[in-house]
Amino acid sequence: MAFFSPGLGIYIKGVVQGVGFRPFVYRLALRYKLTGSVRNTGEGVYVTAYGKPETLEGFLKALKDEAPPLARLDQIQIQPLYDAAPQIFTVLESRSDNKKTKLPPDIATCQACLHELFDPQDRRYRYPFINCTDCGPRYSVVEDLPYDRQNTTLKRFPLCPACLQEYSDPGNRRFHAEPIACPQCGPKIWLVDPSGKEITGEDPLLQAVKALKEGKILALRGLGGFHLVVEATNEQGVQRLRQRKQRPRKPLAIMVPDLKTAEELVHLSSTEKDALLSFRSPIVLAEKRPSSLAPSLAPGLSYLGLMLPYTPLHHLLFREGGFRALVMTSGNLSGTPLCFRNEEALKRLRKLADLFLLHDREIVIGIDDSVVREIGGKIRLIRRARGYVPEALPFPTESPPILAVGPLLKNTFCLTREKEAFVSQHIGDLDNLETENFFRQVLRHLQRLLEVSPRIVACDLHPGYLSTILAEEWARKFKCPLIKVPHHVAHAAAVMGEFGLERTLALILDGLGLGTDGTLWGGEILLVEHGHFERLAHLEAVPQPGGDAAAREPWRMALAYLYRVFGDQALPWAQRLLGASIPQKTLESILTAIKKGLHSPLTSACGRLFDACAALLGLCLRNSFEAEAPMLLECLAARASNERQAYPLPFSNRILKTTALVKALLEDYQREIPPETIAFKIHQGLALGFTQALLTLSQETGVRNVVFSGGCFQNALLSQLLDEHLRERGLRVFWPERLPLNDGGLAYGQALWAAWIYKRQ
Ligand code: ZN
Ligand code: ZN
Ligand code: FE
Repeated sequence: MAFFSPGLGIYIKGVVQGVGFRPFVYRLALRYKLTGSVRNTGEGVYVTAYGKPETLEGFLKALKDEAPPLARLDQIQIQPLYDAAPQIFTVLESRSDNKKTKLPPDIATCQACLHELFDPQDRRYRYPFINCTDCGPRYSVVEDLPYDRQNTTLKRFPLCPACLQEYSDPGNRRFHAEPIACPQCGPKIWLVDPSGKEITGEDPLLQAVKALKEGKILALRGLGGFHLVVEATNEQGVQRLRQRKQRPRKPLAIMVPDLKTAEELVHLSSTEKDALLSFRSPIVLAEKRPSSLAPSLAPGLSYLGLMLPYTPLHHLLFREGGFRALVMTSGNLSGTPLCFRNEEALKRLRKLADLFLLHDREIVIGIDDSVVREIGGKIRLIRRARGYVPEALPFPTESPPILAVGPLLKNTFCLTREKEAFVSQHIGDLDNLETENFFRQVLRHLQRLLEVSPRIVACDLHPGYLSTILAEEWARKFKCPLIKVPHHVAHAAAVMGEFGLERTLALILDGLGLGTDGTLWGGEILLVEHGHFERLAHLEAVPQPGGDAAAREPWRMALAYLYRVFGDQALPWAQRLLGASIPQKTLESILTAIKKGLHSPLTSACGRLFDACAALLGLCLRNSFEAEAPMLLECLAARASNERQAYPLPFSNRILKTTALVKALLEDYQREIPPETIAFKIHQGLALGFTQALLTLSQETGVRNVVFSGGCFQNALLSQLLDEHLRERGLRVFWPERLPLNDGGLAYGQALWAAWIYKRQ
């Protein structure tokens, strides 16, 4: 390519703001001895460059090849400029004509800042809010776009001369680092007791460290909200936290000082290490090693969630305290959103924490830690929040802007704008007022950032979901069409969107969702096209005694299966297997309800089958958190790693006969086969059963693509077995990669389905 004009105008779109892009361009221009300018625009970055054609060519190449690690260049447009070349290269102020820039997520502390943090000669030595153009808060402090200091919560802190100098120097690594701060001019930390009274005296950080060492519980204000912190080696402390949080068994995530400590506590693959060290810094679920950690961190589970320090304050805590591991669990009351404001935390967490380490760098909107797990050789999202949101996902269909409100549990919502989709951070279970309010706050916030006003609303088919009710309210208010999307179809659509698939088989395994025939689905094989689907096969539908209660009490599902297998002979079995914890009268009355079909909707959900199996094995009769029984069953099965056998899961008349599987399980149980072997054979039985069914259906339909989605795919053993069997037999398997496997990815699927339906109308 040759350039005959004296200059070039270069438009760059993508993630190019808040990632050190302008200083990078400036340094590059100096290197190539070019003049011109660079500035942020609403849509990205605009560069003008004047110089010799060959240097311009080199400059263009370097722009692409050497871009900062966090930048993503989606589109580059070049036009010739014929005006006179300026004398120098300058960095210009932002122009806020429109807002279509991509804002990056919050970024873990970088190595350069970390080095300064612990350098006694540095003016930011031990300063908890050190950051630069490569790291620090972004989404959590941005009130509006374009991404400039005046649009962040840092605007309250006028820059001191030294910071201003760094901020204005195009050669400095803090040039236009919008959240730049130092001990002279920036935010501060302080310590208060639960009544809100400041604890003065010694350095607040050192006092907090001392309290943690005494086993106290600290409420720590972090990047996206509060954590409750206690030493993870202190069993009593962990128990106290569990009691106060009313969270008897749900696993608690920990933070460890460095990768070396992480490797001592869990087994880590190179993929898992990369995830831990990435700028996203999520919680990684990994297989435990024997250690001195408190046993009650993740009782009964073979894996543990851990993360590395991702803010300067975390690094300081570990450096000063020498801790091996700290529990870092969301600062919330069970079932409600994360606290992120000081006053709110003091009000809601006062009975949970012994003291509060606060700061005054305001958080615009709460955002939880993300959670990932390596399954099938890749990092899969369990919870998508900090470090990921608000990154855009491709939206492969033209449509007016859509708001998809998501499901009931693990809610996220999705907003679309042209060919992009923005999925919100994890909102939580939409079954209380606090979570509803949080939903509304996040929606308002994202709408402001994206400047988008939905013209279509999409929601679940279930009439009782709060998300559905909100969607109806919205559709009425804004007079736009409301499109209801069946739960499992939305699951399938989400993966189809991610991979741009046209027509595919979908294996959807989860625990909760209303089907189009009024029964509860969740063990489904669908054939899905854009806006059209067919239910090809499913797990045998069995009664779910007590409806929602059965999801909390797995013994109810065990009883339903005992009745299926033994009919009127079920009671003695029930007494033997469940009688120690469930009174005979209750067993009898629920059996009667099952027999008569009273308050026992039919379900084909895979999650309920796992519940039944776990309860029959005595692992868990009552869930203390969602999916506890299936998680215990998976961990038990993982111990039988040499096992290859499977229970039968016959496929006929489009139904996978789970009764046969449960019957075989009970026979093994009678023969005192080790429970881990039984647990494994359940997994293998399901994997082989579904494989057989999918093969048959693939031959019937001529479709060789299969997408996986639904909460049950968080079960690494089941997923990996399925993946292996299907690939061996020549099918192509697609799993969600950029969105959670569970209901956290559903909203995106709802949006895409709604776009397809809208187009057809
Ligand atoms: Zn940095
Ligand atoms: Zn300063
Ligand atoms: Fe689901």
